[in-house]
Amino acid sequence: MAAATSEAIETEHLTKVYKDFWGRDKVRALDDLTLTIHRGEVFGLLGPNGSGKSTTIKLLLGLIFPTRGSARILGQPAGSTAINEKIGFLPEESYLYRFLNGEEILKFYGRLFKIDRRTLNKRVPELLDIVGLDAKARKRKLREYSKGMARRIGLAQALINNPELILLDEPTTGLDPIGTREMKDLILSLKEQGKTVLLCSHLLADVQDVCDRITILFRGKMQTLGAVKDLLQVKDVTNIETRGMSEGQIKQLQLNLSGMGVNDTKITHPTTSLEDLFMRIVRENTGNGDGKTTAYTGSPEAK
Ligand code: ADP
Ligand code: MG
Repeated sequence: MAAATSEAIETEHLTKVYKDFWGRDKVRALDDLTLTIHRGEVFGLLGPNGSGKSTTIKLLLGLIFPTRGSARILGQPAGSTAINEKIGFLPEESYLYRFLNGEEILKFYGRLFKIDRRTLNKRVPELLDIVGLDAKARKRKLREYSKGMARRIGLAQALINNPELILLDEPTTGLDPIGTREMKDLILSLKEQGKTVLLCSHLLADVQDVCDRITILFRGKMQTLGAVKDLLQVKDVTNIETRGMSEGQIKQLQLNLSGMGVNDTKITHPTTSLEDLFMRIVRENTGNGDGKTTAYTGSPEAK
């Protein structure tokens, strides 16, 4: 058994070189990744397409083998079957049984994990609620699912075994802004339950505000690692935020600053992100004055 004190994920010099048909080196997809992900963290493995994110996940799951280096997951070597039941995985593309409906596919995967019928009958509707698939969607065949619905059922599938560690490969791909927000809220609620989440994404802006720490991969190499707020902080710039200043007061402030010898100043009004603007419009149009819709549960000031 994995000791509860082990790290969630530890890799050492993890490297993957894909070979071509003749066994010659072809692509160095992951190059010397040494990384520790702590339990209870939401960790983002970010970077453009082709930077080695999915390769990392496949190595962690033991679906492919490293050319060099090693990985441990919940204290066990990557790929050991003893920990499979503690891991949930949302692949980049879910190949789902097209002729089953949402409810059936979850029951199918639940049975693979040998979850008993009573527990499943309770857990399946709960999960469908959590991922926001309504009664109609549940009875629909998966081949009729939109990309966003497929991501949702894929996530429910990844959670069927109530895993400790959840690996999400491109969780927001195909989701609209509301769906993205909901996915982020879901990830945060998993964190609140004490779970560890490793997510991969090339959509940096989508996920930056749910990750405790991130690393950016580029061409298989780790470029940077740290807490999002530290990485995004521009240390040599200071912002002062206030409300209700008149134009006269702003002029006065500028003069005062210049009196202090601070000359290179820019006093502006803040802008919002397009996502927040969109969410505000949706909120206003659903006439929900308290700032809440079923879709929008994030704090209004969250970026
Ligand atoms: P990401 O998930 O960041 O988009 P991947 O890990 O899927 O990146 O791919 C990293 C690199 O490895 C890419 O150049 C990709 O083309 C290559 N690659 C991925 N899988 C294979 C494979 N099975 N055989 C050969 N090359 C591969
Ligand atoms: Mg990928």
